[in-house]
Amino acid sequence: MKDNSLLVIIAAAGSGERFEGDIPKQYQQLNGKTVIEKSVNTFIASRYVGKVIIAISEDDEFIKKQNFHKSKKVEYVFGGSSRQESIKNAIDLINKDYEFVITHDAARPNISEQDFIKLYKDILNTNASCSFLYIPVYDSIKFVGENDITTKDKNNFFLVQTPQICKLKDLRKSLEKCLEDKVKCPDESYAIEYAKLPLSKVRGKRSNIKITEKDDLELLNSFLNRSGIGFDLHKYQDGSGIILGGFKIDCNYSIDAHSDGDVLLHSIADSILGATGSGDIGLFFSDQDEKNKNLDSQKIIDYCLNVLDKMNLEIFNIDTTIICEYPKISPFREQILLKLSEILKIPVEDIGLKATTSEQIGIIGQNKAIAVQSIVNLKEKI
Ligand code: ZN
Repeated sequence: MKDNSLLVIIAAAGSGERFEGDIPKQYQQLNGKTVIEKSVNTFIASRYVGKVIIAISEDDEFIKKQNFHKSKKVEYVFGGSSRQESIKNAIDLINKDYEFVITHDAARPNISEQDFIKLYKDILNTNASCSFLYIPVYDSIKFVGENDITTKDKNNFFLVQTPQICKLKDLRKSLEKCLEDKVKCPDESYAIEYAKLPLSKVRGKRSNIKITEKDDLELLNSFLNRSGIGFDLHKYQDGSGIILGGFKIDCNYSIDAHSDGDVLLHSIADSILGATGSGDIGLFFSDQDEKNKNLDSQKIIDYCLNVLDKMNLEIFNIDTTIICEYPKISPFREQILLKLSEILKIPVEDIGLKATTSEQIGIIGQNKAIAVQSIVNLKEKI
């Protein structure tokens, strides 16, 4: 297995398969990215992949907006009227000698490098012309004839997925034969099969879903999420109270900060921004900026919720730990939780709020500071 040794062709020309208004399925949002971004970026990031050719339809108006659009590894080709024509057009674009080509559907976003490395190893070991992913059939299967319905033995069937890997010269030859004979290929393994060349199969994963209906997006969303961690610490000074999660606790300290010093909201904001890949709150609310003086930290959370909204994400759950010696948090826990729920616009059940001390050591233990750690889980809004 050599670096840059694989050519990858992504079939994304299926403009006839639109759903959800006018947006084709490969351009639907999935956890902050488009479906095709998830499918393509796995290949771009792999050291074994030298080139990715994406077969698109001529009237594709979305491809330029994808985050990989300017990647040096990527080239585009207009697809033909059938899958085999699209793949053939892509192969014809190649001037470098690749021994192997991987073909994949833009609408199968839930793959990892491991999935195609398994195929790469298999084709090297078996010397087949094509190695493809399969999964067993677990549901009962019935054949629907013109006048009858017959149950078949499901053990005689399996389902075929992409990615698939082929010897480039064998796939070229097989596709030419299919085009000549006007045979329709549902996938590349079929072209190889039609040309009577050897096939090999590798067990795939059921989670490698081909997005075909809206339900499929919802299913994928249920196991794709984004996490972020946050941490904030502020110094104490003499005063008459601190604000935690928008709730004022009366005590002999106040927070030494440019803003209102709500260390709990700052930590949560950082975890949200981290999970979205947006940076940290200092980027958006600098403590050097005069206009942020005594800033109400709820505005920072509003900003974060707005970022989530734009990315079509929502909070699944948040967990936080307040670390301080004083004041005692437990008497105010319920009130802080209620306020947090109101500010974050999520139910109390989705917020973890814990408190601990620093065992009287270090700056926190000596009542000179308070810190908060947070973690957030985000998921796509459905
Ligand atoms: Zn802060």
